[in-house]
Amino acid sequence: MNIQTKAQILEILQMPEEAFRRDIMPLAADACREAWGGRLLATAMLGYSNICKNQCLYCGMRAGNNTLHRYRLPAADIIASLRQARGYGFTRAFLISGEDPKYPFADLLQIVEAIHGMGMFLSLATGEFEPAQYAELKGAGADEYVLKFEMADPVTFDRLNPSTNFQKRMAGIRAVQKSGLQLASGNIVDYPGQTLEQLADDILLMKELEISWAPIIPYMPAANTPLAQEGGFGSTLLNLKEIAILRLMMPKIKITAQQPGEDKKKGLADPAGNLDAIHAGANLLFCDLLPEARARDFRVVDERNLTGTAHLTQLAEASGLELWI
Ligand code: SF4
Repeated sequence: MNIQTKAQILEILQMPEEAFRRDIMPLAADACREAWGGRLLATAMLGYSNICKNQCLYCGMRAGNNTLHRYRLPAADIIASLRQARGYGFTRAFLISGEDPKYPFADLLQIVEAIHGMGMFLSLATGEFEPAQYAELKGAGADEYVLKFEMADPVTFDRLNPSTNFQKRMAGIRAVQKSGLQLASGNIVDYPGQTLEQLADDILLMKELEISWAPIIPYMPAANTPLAQEGGFGSTLLNLKEIAILRLMMPKIKITAQQPGEDKKKGLADPAGNLDAIHAGANLLFCDLLPEARARDFRVVDERNLTGTAHLTQLAEASGLELWI
């Protein structure tokens, strides 16, 4: 199925659930199987600092949320944790943090060099940097950088992200591309007030940016955030539809498979929700390296529940795919 236009995207976004599950999801799952050789990817993920100077209205780690216990892991602990993951066989690492200006950049470069030296593919999501810093990260051995545009609508972006602005975010995205790092980017799906037209524009922007990974989840209201006052959970069906559309438009990208199921309390690692995402063409799961008590404080959204590896094995079995760590 060849999807190129906004009208074609909107047609799927507006499709009744039954027709979407019957006619579109199997095509997307086949496209994923073909592009990735029937493999389900897993990445070792470490949220190494939950300190953030920013005030994004939807994020549980925003600076204004005083209910979190804040922490910052030293370089030696991060390297040791990834070395352990490498020992378990993981070949991909994902380091993520709040936008923490006090985390020494020299330490981050040292961490990147060490993980690169372990032979791991390294993705980073550590906020907005100066353009030259992306090039330094690439030079130290990083492979991919996650900088989400969150929404293609500049007015909404500027309202929900008061610590930066859309122009600056897009300049950062261009700088990531220029540095030679692969670009992971995407949107928040079905946040309060988002229209289907806006969602279609987000999908078109992901295509235009030639992203390597779509780190997308439906909007989940986080405790103590202003946006949680404006509306509840985003639609998992719309998230499934975006996954399928992206897979059919860009068969070779990675797409996050961690979406909630019907019982939102089970969080992002609910096997039912994850399996639905895999059946829609998603192919990337995570193994959280943080100890469970600390993982609760790394809370962009509530109920992430990603610790351990049992869910990876279960999902590979349930989907009939081969787990590739
Ligand atoms: S989304 Fe990222 S930059 Fe924004 S408040 Fe949360 S951790 Fe900070």
